[in-house]
Amino acid sequence: MLHVNSAFSRIGEENAFAVLARAGELQRQGRDIINLGIGQPDFSTPPHIVEAAVKALRDGQHGYTPATGVPVLREAVAADLKRRFNVEVSPDLVLIVPGGKVTMYMAIVMFGEPGADILYPDPGFPIYRSMIEYTGATPIPIPVREENSFAFSAEEVLSLITPKTRLIILNSPANPTGGVTPKAEIDRFVAGLDRWPDVAILSDEIYGQMTYDGLAHQTLLAYPEIRERLILLDGWSKTYAMTGWRLGFSVWPKPLYDNARKLAVNSYSCVNAPTQFAGLAALTGPQDAVRDMVAEFDRRRTVVVDGLNKLPGVRAATPKGAFYAFPNVAATGWKAKSLASALLEDAGVATIGGPDFGVYGEGFIRLSYANSTENIGRALERIGDFLSRRNLPR
Ligand code: PLP
Repeated sequence: MLHVNSAFSRIGEENAFAVLARAGELQRQGRDIINLGIGQPDFSTPPHIVEAAVKALRDGQHGYTPATGVPVLREAVAADLKRRFNVEVSPDLVLIVPGGKVTMYMAIVMFGEPGADILYPDPGFPIYRSMIEYTGATPIPIPVREENSFAFSAEEVLSLITPKTRLIILNSPANPTGGVTPKAEIDRFVAGLDRWPDVAILSDEIYGQMTYDGLAHQTLLAYPEIRERLILLDGWSKTYAMTGWRLGFSVWPKPLYDNARKLAVNSYSCVNAPTQFAGLAALTGPQDAVRDMVAEFDRRRTVVVDGLNKLPGVRAATPKGAFYAFPNVAATGWKAKSLASALLEDAGVATIGGPDFGVYGEGFIRLSYANSTENIGRALERIGDFLSRRNLPR
């Protein structure tokens, strides 16, 4: 018998990939499936970004790069943060990584160990909890509540901190809820952290450029008092429709940067060079494609929320960011995961059950509106038909 490290019995995964696989299987059987399950823009990467990667390959960018990323890209990230938020970040603290997830992985393995508590949003991106459990640390959910417009409550997060807390993970704009935490709440949170100087923060801001209703994204980088313990997670996947390229960046406090660099050296060595040049073109080139994509998501947001609120037993808050709606479906009488599964099998609409994002996700399903308005309309019609046929007595 092989003695695999027992930590692997605790590692989880993302059900979104299982739903994607099942949707593909049904499609191959000839079924017409509308996929509102997957969390990626339905746009192609803008052509000038693709061209930059092709040019880099043609120019001979075929070798290893520094583990931390090509210097010109790290400088471009620092310049972009200055442009977007007016914050000073040294390129020496920027790490180029293969996807946003890798920063999460690094931060959690850096702080997670038996006896340590790590706080994470629930419902939230499933990998937070999975990786916390893998390290043997105790996952402490931060409830993300519908009645609080899916923002986190500073008071509630602060109340969960104990001397065992090593790391707090925050995510705004949020997956799966589309919630955006207002600046005043973040101000209160940062002020309260004063009492807990030994706790690190991982701020997942991968949806930072996807906010609506004129709301400006509030980055945690804007608080100098926590810069010495803040890890910023961001990347190109969502903003530039580059999920398949695997490109992200993080900003680390100086004392942690070298640990992160060593994790890179011990695993993937560096991000492939042409992708880094694509990332450079994304940051330094025209930003119209980003604006157009976000404007299109905004239009679809209205369609999806209005449509959902007309369905029997469904109540949907208006998401303020990202590209997800997270309707409350409790009044349909269905358990959320059974509903998501029945919608896929019976109505041909892929969604994700809220419990796949944590126990506080019961009663909700996630719909990604990274799909055409036409498909969203057809999906809502199908869900409506399904619910009027199959609404269960409460
Ligand atoms: N963080 C959140 C909240 C996400 O939703 C995702 C992707 O869905 C990621 C991080 C990971 O992004 P990437 O594809 O760049 O690894």
